[in-house]
Amino acid sequence: MKNRFLSSRLQNISYSQTLAMSGKARELKKKGYDIINLSLGEPNFLPPDFILEAAKKAIDEGYHYYTPVSGYLELREIICKKFLRDNGLKYSTSQIIVSTGGKQSIINVLLSLLNRDDEVIIPAPYWVSYYQMVKLCEASPIIIPTTMEKNFKINPKQLEKAITNKTKLFIFSTPSNPTGSVYSYEELENLVEVFKKHSEIIILSDEIYEHICYSVKHTSIGVFPDLHHQVITLNGLSKAFSMTGWRIGYVGAPEWIAKSCEKIQGQTTSCANSIAQRAAISALQALPNKIEYMIQEFKKRRNLVLDMMKEIPGFQVYQPDGAFYVFPNVSELFGKKFNGEKIHNSDELSEFLLVKAQVATVSGSAFGDNESLRISYASTEDQIIKAFTRIKQALKK
Ligand code: GLU
Repeated sequence: MKNRFLSSRLQNISYSQTLAMSGKARELKKKGYDIINLSLGEPNFLPPDFILEAAKKAIDEGYHYYTPVSGYLELREIICKKFLRDNGLKYSTSQIIVSTGGKQSIINVLLSLLNRDDEVIIPAPYWVSYYQMVKLCEASPIIIPTTMEKNFKINPKQLEKAITNKTKLFIFSTPSNPTGSVYSYEELENLVEVFKKHSEIIILSDEIYEHICYSVKHTSIGVFPDLHHQVITLNGLSKAFSMTGWRIGYVGAPEWIAKSCEKIQGQTTSCANSIAQRAAISALQALPNKIEYMIQEFKKRRNLVLDMMKEIPGFQVYQPDGAFYVFPNVSELFGKKFNGEKIHNSDELSEFLLVKAQVATVSGSAFGDNESLRISYASTEDQIIKAFTRIKQALKK
């Protein structure tokens, strides 16, 4: 009966599988189970001291009130400097909108641009919420599949083929969540040639993992000449500064899009949290070398995970160049029995590992690939070793 009152928009989407799995892990932990949670993309570090100090100072100095809808001017000025310093992107403060996390930045953009049945091209594997948010806007996600052999990257031909006269937007992340692949300058340059021919298409470039790159250097697609007016650059504090709960995301966008994001935000949340915004000023003023210790630690963990995965039969491994996830193909395990239980797909494998190994992962189906599993290594080395030892053990029987 209740269903009748829920909007069809809502019924069209599902719960976030990343958050659902992590919620499940939290519940089981509360009940006393020794769960290792490798489901969530959440760094285990404390935010750097200088950022914490800035937040405390903001409280003492009385930053308790609404901020401008698009964020404090001082913060937007720092974001402009950061975009220029780290990405070679030129934005003015009127092109910057600060939001309550990257997710709000994305939904602001989608609500600004999409009408029912507009098409949004998304390379798969994709981050879980791109797909669902596009559906929430009653638009159509158009998926370009990729393969592990091609490092989960699309090529210009695939892109060209996916474009129709209904295409409005292209969304991707580099470094990628969930695969960790990073587009090189040359690879982006090739895609840019296609976008230049279709100047009506807007590109939403999610660069939240920009600093977490191990071998390939991060490039912002907005740096290519003639493309800047088509690109929205998305970033935030969650991953680089280990500030997931502070909820600060931001975009640099063509002014007409920034204005529409501001309009939506003004009607929905007024502004992002004032204290977190003051802390963000200090975070973004700092040079990226201030967080280098975290990147080095992630790299060590990635290598550890790759070594440990090699010992697990049925986990097909590749080397991710960035972010803090591995995304092994596990389809070899399908149809086989473990601990007396037959595994048919990645949903079942993820559930099996939660129950039998007490390790929380996310099924690849959340990311548009039901042959894989996403495992986050944003956890301590001890936890990672314990988790992979348990996974190996559970799949032995
Ligand atoms: N972005 C992180 C992840 O993919 C956080 C969870 C979420 O917002 O989905 O795990």
